[in-house]
Amino acid sequence: MIVAILGDVHGNREALEAVLTAAAREDAEGFWFLGDLVGYNPDPDYCVAEVLSRASHAVRGNHDKAVTGLLSVRWFNPMAREAVRWTRRTARADTLRSVEGLPEGPQRPLPGFVLCHGTPWDEDEYLIGETAVVEAFRWMRNDGKARVCFHGHTHRPLCCRLRGGPERPEALPGEGLVAFEPGCLYLVNPGSVGQPRDGNPKASFGILDTDRLTYRTLRVAYAVQETMRKIEAAGLPRELAWRLSGGA
Ligand code: ZN
Repeated sequence: MIVAILGDVHGNREALEAVLTAAAREDAEGFWFLGDLVGYNPDPDYCVAEVLSRASHAVRGNHDKAVTGLLSVRWFNPMAREAVRWTRRTARADTLRSVEGLPEGPQRPLPGFVLCHGTPWDEDEYLIGETAVVEAFRWMRNDGKARVCFHGHTHRPLCCRLRGGPERPEALPGEGLVAFEPGCLYLVNPGSVGQPRDGNPKASFGILDTDRLTYRTLRVAYAVQETMRKIEAAGLPRELAWRLSGGA
């Protein structure tokens, strides 16, 4: 089965539409979601309905929790906090109920595969830097069943492999085709659909072939000017529009 792996959509309708079109071109039949449907961008209702009508497996993100009151916005930066409050005020009641119903990670959609938002042990922690990568692989070793762990939250694509023994993790180019080898562990972040932060403004998502055991990160251009216009029209902080144009 071809599975599209989406994370950090954050209410960006134009980016999500472009990603769903690209996923259809890849013949994706399955959808897995890594958290953060809402926050930052102006179309929570559309994004929640579209993703949840498709995803067989999903986990919640920190913005999903904040919007539904499960997490305090005290530690959010002022822009993120304002976007959380805006979403609470403007999203439909059924949208907020769906977001509230998102399960905590990790989830296991198929044997060997794990989905989480931040890390498998803490949904709010950022998996950044070599120490965190080593710790994540240690978690997978101890778990014994996880071979590929998909995560989100950083809004930056990442693909790391750990071969057996004491070898150090290797970073792989996720935009090429990665073949999952037996005996290796993989840590994969497909990047963010709705607010990429790796300097590339194109929407980012992953395509997994569960039969061939291959993976690829795809980047898709979308109508970013339209999203920026809607952010300003909605009265959301202007910085949220500017950062989309630079992928920052
Ligand atoms: Zn996020």
